[in-house]
Amino acid sequence: MSVQVHHFINGEFVAGSGQQQISVTNPIDNQPIATVNIATTAEVEQAVASAQQAFLSWRRTPVSERARLMLRYQHLLKQHHDELATVLAQETGKTFEDARGDVWRGIEVAEQAANIASMMMGETVENVANGIDSYSMVQPLGVCVGITPFNFPAMIPLWMFPIAIACGNSFILKPSEQDPITPTRLAELFAEAGAPSGILQVLHGDKAVVEQLINHPQTKTVSFVGSVAVGQQVYRMATQQLKRAQVFAGAKNHCVIMPDANKQQVINQLVGASVGAAGQRCMAISVAVFVGSSSQWICELRDALKHVKPGLWNDPNAAYGPLISPAAKARVQALIAQGKREGAHCLLDGSDFTVTGYEQGNWLGPTLFSEVTPEMSIYQQEIFGPVLCCICVDSLSEAIELVNANPYGNGTAIFTGSGAAAKQYQQQVEVGQVGINVPIPVPLPFFSFTGWKGSFYGDQHAYGKQAVRFYTETKTVTCRWFDDEVESAPNMSIALK
Ligand code: NAD
Repeated sequence: MSVQVHHFINGEFVAGSGQQQISVTNPIDNQPIATVNIATTAEVEQAVASAQQAFLSWRRTPVSERARLMLRYQHLLKQHHDELATVLAQETGKTFEDARGDVWRGIEVAEQAANIASMMMGETVENVANGIDSYSMVQPLGVCVGITPFNFPAMIPLWMFPIAIACGNSFILKPSEQDPITPTRLAELFAEAGAPSGILQVLHGDKAVVEQLINHPQTKTVSFVGSVAVGQQVYRMATQQLKRAQVFAGAKNHCVIMPDANKQQVINQLVGASVGAAGQRCMAISVAVFVGSSSQWICELRDALKHVKPGLWNDPNAAYGPLISPAAKARVQALIAQGKREGAHCLLDGSDFTVTGYEQGNWLGPTLFSEVTPEMSIYQQEIFGPVLCCICVDSLSEAIELVNANPYGNGTAIFTGSGAAAKQYQQQVEVGQVGINVPIPVPLPFFSFTGWKGSFYGDQHAYGKQAVRFYTETKTVTCRWFDDEVESAPNMSIALK
């Protein structure tokens, strides 16, 4: 049964009057499950005007009230955790446990947003000159825009709007058109938590809606998560409009395996980190760099991957689900074929994998390449599928050189038993998030999500203190009160009580 996904404009869920429609399909069989009407120019205008109006009163709402909204929201999200995970699993194909994780990582950000007062504290220096004090405060900016990808339809919207709104802004979310049901449900629960009308709006659509939002004179910031090509366009467009922007883009994450690492741990962790979620994670490990004799473990890695099977979201034996779309599957298949043509050794090929009864789904089995070189397309491009490339090097220094030469810098990991090797790696690697014997080092929300190089454009990262800086402006006050005015102030005794 196909449902109509609604926009959320000025506190109302509306189908919208757009004549252009997008069909949302189930990745297990590509049958339609929902339809969205692309927001019209007038609907975008209405959402921005309503968000601006809502901002004017929301910014005056005491910070403790804003924090309490986040507490209520966190509570509701936890109550609806399994329901949200079911909706999410059905529209993305993720396994139920993976979908629960997607929701949970978002809940943690809402939880952190309830702590907003302490994150917004300014600074004070008394007596900066004779009788003069200086203090700073942070204030919200206005209407903030968020554009999110398909691969974490709960976590990534929740990276953005709880913090932006807790800071006193209003927020317009443009979720991925490939899985818009989960983000819309997040907005419904936000309204149920008592969010005033208009502080969160959800508009569905694609490029045209994004461009109108970025170019609108009343929107102040742009947060984007998605592919490199679109991310670069969005960053250029937003900064061209002299707007504050943060863009989280694609990745190529390396895991360095030292010969002194625990072999079994390495193999277990690499399997999950490379093909889990069908490799559709911006922090997935897509390159394993074997140092010295650890290269002997590649055969055992292949044997472990061979037993990993994708399947339906509610199959407890499924390791991961299908890719999001036939186009995504075809792209990964083409890259696998290209890898073979360019001379990489394909130890395991999942190109033809299928699930019985769901042959029309976007399935791909685990795929493993060895003898990969940096010139090959499978190394240079983000594959975003269940494909792991192995490269062998002789030393840790050579591994660091390889990782640093890569244009991306989202995440990396080192597996080793040596503190000295781990320390050298963490100091020298030019990547923003480093795991030591942890394959996918996504920071919890009291830190920030700190991708580097081609994986991030901007200054302040997602969630944590950096997000508070992104969604606020600092005002610094220099203040003098004259002593003789204390003496002459009327009703002093009353005033001081
Ligand atoms: P995408 O770039 O195709 O889409 C992202 C968003 O941009 C969607 O909302 C989409 O509607 C919109 N969009 C698409 N084309 C546009 C255009 N021409 N102009 C303006 N907006 C446009 O990305 P995706 O396929 O949904 O997501 C996968 C990508 O996201 C991967 O590259 C992955 O690495 C990246 N990602 C990065 C991070 C990170 O933190 N660095 C996190 C998650 C995903």
